[in-house]
Amino acid sequence: MSTVPVPQRRLFWRNFDIQYHSVHPNLRHMKRNMWELPHWALWLGGVLEAHGYSDMGVLDLYTDPGTFNAPGRLAKDVVEKAARDNPADVYLFSPMTVNLCYAYEISTVIKQVHPAATVVYGGVVATPLAHEVAAHPSVDYVVVDRGERALPALLDALRDGRDVATVGNLVYRDSHGRTSRTAIRYPDVAPADLPFPKIDLFPASSGGDIRYLRQVYALGCPYQCTFCTIQTIGRRPGYFPIERVLREIRAYRAHYGAHHNIYWGDETFTLHPERTLELLDALDREGDVRYDCQTRLNCLTDDRVLRKLKSSGCQWIEIGLETASQDSHHTHKHHMNLDTTIETLKRVRDAGLATCAFTVNGFPDQTPDDMVRSIDWISDLIDQDLLQATYLFGLVPYPGSGMYQNPERFGMKILHRDFSLYHEDLPPVYATDKATPDQIYQVFLDGLDTFAQAMDKRPYFSDVPPVGDLTEYGGFWADAHV
Ligand code: SF4
Repeated sequence: MSTVPVPQRRLFWRNFDIQYHSVHPNLRHMKRNMWELPHWALWLGGVLEAHGYSDMGVLDLYTDPGTFNAPGRLAKDVVEKAARDNPADVYLFSPMTVNLCYAYEISTVIKQVHPAATVVYGGVVATPLAHEVAAHPSVDYVVVDRGERALPALLDALRDGRDVATVGNLVYRDSHGRTSRTAIRYPDVAPADLPFPKIDLFPASSGGDIRYLRQVYALGCPYQCTFCTIQTIGRRPGYFPIERVLREIRAYRAHYGAHHNIYWGDETFTLHPERTLELLDALDREGDVRYDCQTRLNCLTDDRVLRKLKSSGCQWIEIGLETASQDSHHTHKHHMNLDTTIETLKRVRDAGLATCAFTVNGFPDQTPDDMVRSIDWISDLIDQDLLQATYLFGLVPYPGSGMYQNPERFGMKILHRDFSLYHEDLPPVYATDKATPDQIYQVFLDGLDTFAQAMDKRPYFSDVPPVGDLTEYGGFWADAHV
């Protein structure tokens, strides 16, 4: 992987992990920093297998320490060797925005080594930028939105020599070099109808490279935060059958390690209390699942849910608090009311549940002083033991977000489209009339120091003092990862 050198991150992550480890006693350190399995790959692997495509593998250039010569510089010889060692008819890519440039470079090498191979892109950045991505000479097709129908339909058409114009959700270059989208739009597949994931797509040894296993109960989020790219997944949550969810957890842990915690990938895990309680009852009966989840403050008000979260194995709840400014919440965070923050966090803590905030710096309606107030607010909540930790991200108007689509509406001017710099740890890629990019970034860097200090304390939920030898916390926090 490539890394972003931000010196303040080192102490920040180290102190974050003091808090994180205190409520994750079984956590093992990652041998290589994959962090988590790319969920989409196992998911679509299952879809393809169900359609009869069983000969597939993964090319893991992410954790290979030799993939980059230096930050931002791919080692072409390493990529070339990987391509030669892994010949295939079709290569699938689903990069994040900041990785798009590396995905292009890798695709170019693949096209040089295997000129007859087909290169297909999809996912969170390829969908909103479909025409631009499809115009790249090393990309043959872009599958837009969810790919469970389009991808097997595309492979079938290619295999049978049929016209791909009959495949839905597809963008590609025509014979004149113009990109166009096919006419058909597939409806999303209901979670209950999705094939079982291809659990063993990665070798079992990858279990040593991940921090947790991601699992999904509900897909989609009904809110419309201006900085979010959830559109790719969908707005109306659809639920997987509980028995299927439990089978997946068992299968993942059997392959990658029974010690693994689960991280619920649902964007708002406690959105519908009754649906959540059904799952929590099942987890309670399962007995040995320990997990983390993410949700919104306004979805943590039901005491039945809080009690059941605790008894069913929840260890850590991540909450999108984002900023102290209620005005910013009204504009950017859809239905978030901060008045109840302290009361809600107290109830969550008193239910025995550790919490961690998502904090976002750089909202365009804020002055630098407003941003500092947000950092201080979160810091104060940590001081009061109402939060155990926080992440800190610089705001990025990612393609696919409302901000990227319509920056003027939010008082932003996007400065460039060099997506290799669209990263939460790098200087902002936009300007506002309230703060310069330099001012915003300075608040971010100072905020990392402030939060590092706030988290440097005895954990609330554990009597175990922080370990003396900090290397015992693993090494992932040495750099920010791309
Ligand atoms: S930020 Fe969270 S709550 Fe807002 S739209 Fe995205 S997933 Fe939903």
